[in-house]
Amino acid sequence: MPSPIEHPVESLPGVGPTTGAALRRRGYESIGDLLWLLPRGYDDQRVPTPIHALRDGDYAVVDGVVRRARSFPRGGPIGFDARLEPVVLDEAEEGYRELKLIWFRAIPGLARRFAEGTRVRVAGRVQDYRGTATIAHPETLAADSAGTIEPRYPDVPGVRRKTLRRAIRAAVDRAVAEVPDLIPAPLRAELGLPAVGEALRSIHVPDPETFDAKSADSNDPGYRRLALEELVLWELALRMRRASERGGIAQRFGVGPVSEASTAFPFELTGAQQRAIEEVSRALDSESPMKRLLQGDVGCGKTAVALVACAQVAGGGAQAAFLAPTELLAEQHAETLRATADDLGLRIGLFTGALSRDQRRSMLDRMATGAVDLIVGTHALLSGEVRFSNLGLVIIDEQHRFGVAQRLRLGARGVDRRPHLLVMTATPIPRSLALVLYAGLDLTIIDAKPPGRVPSTTKMISRENRSLVLRQIERALGAGGRAFVVCPAIAASDELVTVHEIVSEMKTHFGDDRVAEAHGRLSSDERRDAMRAFAEGDRDVLVGTTVLEVGVDIPDANIIVIEQAERFGLAQLHQLRGRVGRAGQRSACLLAHGEPMTEDAEFRLRALCETDDGFQLAERDLELRGAGHLFGYRQSGASGLQFADLVEDRALLQTAAALVDRIVEADSELSMPEHAPARAAVERWERNAAVREDAG
Ligand code: ADP
Ligand code: MG
Repeated sequence: MPSPIEHPVESLPGVGPTTGAALRRRGYESIGDLLWLLPRGYDDQRVPTPIHALRDGDYAVVDGVVRRARSFPRGGPIGFDARLEPVVLDEAEEGYRELKLIWFRAIPGLARRFAEGTRVRVAGRVQDYRGTATIAHPETLAADSAGTIEPRYPDVPGVRRKTLRRAIRAAVDRAVAEVPDLIPAPLRAELGLPAVGEALRSIHVPDPETFDAKSADSNDPGYRRLALEELVLWELALRMRRASERGGIAQRFGVGPVSEASTAFPFELTGAQQRAIEEVSRALDSESPMKRLLQGDVGCGKTAVALVACAQVAGGGAQAAFLAPTELLAEQHAETLRATADDLGLRIGLFTGALSRDQRRSMLDRMATGAVDLIVGTHALLSGEVRFSNLGLVIIDEQHRFGVAQRLRLGARGVDRRPHLLVMTATPIPRSLALVLYAGLDLTIIDAKPPGRVPSTTKMISRENRSLVLRQIERALGAGGRAFVVCPAIAASDELVTVHEIVSEMKTHFGDDRVAEAHGRLSSDERRDAMRAFAEGDRDVLVGTTVLEVGVDIPDANIIVIEQAERFGLAQLHQLRGRVGRAGQRSACLLAHGEPMTEDAEFRLRALCETDDGFQLAERDLELRGAGHLFGYRQSGASGLQFADLVEDRALLQTAAALVDRIVEADSELSMPEHAPARAAVERWERNAAVREDAG
């Protein structure tokens, strides 16, 4: 016999075929599903509010005596209204003297229930309508009801509020005890944790004795329990995934070429770079596939580390693939890598969707025959046609756009040997968190920048002050530099400053032949020409969109103006600022902002002016936006977490990890009966994760 949680929603009181269909459309098919439809808040019906004390916007329970009641418009039973007066006329001088109840559609029996002189108890949200306290479509309560805490559920189209409440209440009574727990009972008992079912019950049916409206949010113990459950699942799923990916054999690359490659650069590597190279080269010198995150703030020189790794792999006769998130970036990477790659004796190729058929065919051929050592490309490299003669290393320049699984899927391409994997990121997240977000990756951090870097001077300027903006650019160009101007849109926007607008402003001021533009609407040839003209100094002002955010390496660039800077996120602004002053010269970043700004925007821009340190900015961002949004992480949806927040709940995550240790120690395959719910949940998680990552 199936457990009550598997019973169809239609088996609940008040749920007929129509309501059932409406619930199913929202994905609530069984009683168990419905238990996870959680309230948005609560209506506290314990204590009635006297009419004179009602306040606009409050939810209130009101006792009163019906004075006047009528249908409207006169003659047709289309609507109904009634006036309530206090049961006991109070002496209050202030406040409302009566409450108006109004129904905009007829409900059978209203006239009887609200006959003049009847004493009633109603509940609802009070609105002040032209000086009259009004509740539209109030709920009618029994006049002597004890007073409960009513959960307020999200709207489900086609389902009446009362029906939904009643159905969920019945679901709780029937089935909440059957909700499976990931954490086996003995472990729960040891830690004094309630069952998930108990947590759900406390959320749906709060105890009127102890209910406190102020804490009835995500700090509520019931929700914390669900957050823990979720983190246990997350941790468990990641462990299982890691275990399944373990094994596999990679090619082993001797460290021979490393020291020579390390001296091929026109600069001396920093100690931090050398340490990173050492860690990476040691990992490549092993048959166990490397999976490593290379983390370092913008401008710390990650590319050099990656190139040395490529040289090591090429020295062993294998190829490296370098993935970038967009065509433009792939092209730029190929361009900037080329010079050093030549010096290192690496043959480099570019593979994107923008290649002509002939170019494409030729590049496919060169990859397959081993005629290139380093292939820079976009996700076009993931297409089935691509064959490598011997892929030894995959490097991913991470921009939040590749799902973890996608990275690893690429990592798993290879005939019999797995390639090593190096993910590069400039997102400065705390080490502990990085280990969680990039579970399964080892971590190498470059924690210092090349010497002699002067932090850019970052300033906020009102957008209106164009003459100041232009003067600053002029001065920077006068010092032999070059200027980036970044706009939030390309063309035709009412609200946003566009590349087109700024290009014409710059051309008017500096002359047509000094201004270039780069953005996603140009063909890749046009873009490349523009970039080249700018890199070589034929043009000295480059106007573009955030495609300039990553990769672009123009050592002479010494000023960046960000138009409508308030429109950008902190991480993005920091990345953009990293585009200037790369040769160690003085540089400036102007945040040209509109007015007025929101408080958040102002906080962001000020934070940028105050520090140049990516880690500190990450902390500020955290403070500002709450952790789930850390550098856009939650938007990517990659964590799929609903209750827990990976940063704020770090302590809870540790508890979860400790619990998972215990579970896995006892039963690494989750094959024991008490782990059946955990196993089922992990399988479900994997299915959903695949969907999420394909979508993102
Ligand atoms: P990121 O870590 O942001 O990818 P890059 O690898 O693009 O940084 O390097 C930023 C700039 O610093 C480039 O112009 C690069 O040539 C230069 N660079 C890298 N390492 C050093 C170093 N050790 N000394 C001086 N300049 C360096
Ligand atoms: Mg880089």
